[in-house]
Amino acid sequence: MSESELRIDLAAAFRCFARLNMHEAVANHLSVAVSDDGRRFLTNPKWMHFSRVKASDLVLLDADDAASLAGGKVDPTTWAIHGQLHRRLPHVRVAMHLHPVYATAISTLEDPTILPIEQNTSRYFKRVAFDTAFSGMADSEDEGARLVALLDGKSRLMMGNHGVMVCAPTIGEAFDDMYTLERACQILVNAYATGKPLRVLSDAVAERTARDWESIADFSIAHFEEMKKVLDAEDPSYRD
Ligand SMILES: [Zn+2]
Repeated sequence: MSESELRIDLAAAFRCFARLNMHEAVANHLSVAVSDDGRRFLTNPKWMHFSRVKASDLVLLDADDAASLAGGKVDPTTWAIHGQLHRRLPHVRVAMHLHPVYATAISTLEDPTILPIEQNTSRYFKRVAFDTAFSGMADSEDEGARLVALLDGKSRLMMGNHGVMVCAPTIGEAFDDMYTLERACQILVNAYATGKPLRVLSDAVAERTARDWESIADFSIAHFEEMKKVLDAEDPSYRD
């Protein structure tokens, strides 16, 4: 995809997360690699509300060039986490970091495992990395590098006492994965809230369901493309 197409899709993802109330005030960040080596990437400008982001607002950063941060146009935590991630894992084209309420609630549990209790939760069966060493805002390159190392081949990081990070080859797949992860955690929180014992699915069923999810990337793309049509019908200004 061209940079202009990536800008439109990433702007759409910001608008979608705002609609879903999955953003945190004017924090959180999404990024997409533009260059093959991942070192040039687009991200959101510092402290702009997700509901207002337009394609032309996105900031192009160079992970090798701290000067591209000049003018304080992006949040330092964006540079620390996404800069390290795109530099170290060029195959990761898209990274999304949010603090959605239910996933963040699960991240605060002693055991933040997303137990497989239905289809959404099963998508994450043994497919999430965990960070249990939250030490404050991630605003240093060392902290970004530490978080990236924790992924260890996985595409999702449950950031303990903090939030979540999702990586994917395309913006549509990352959007749908973040959406489903939050929904899975919402279901799990509600199940826990009943105080009744959970009927956790067997490993075999959970594994089969997770593999089924991995075979339907086109479902994720369709979800995102449909959401773009919803945005287009209401307010296509994200494309500007
Ligand atoms: Zn955060």
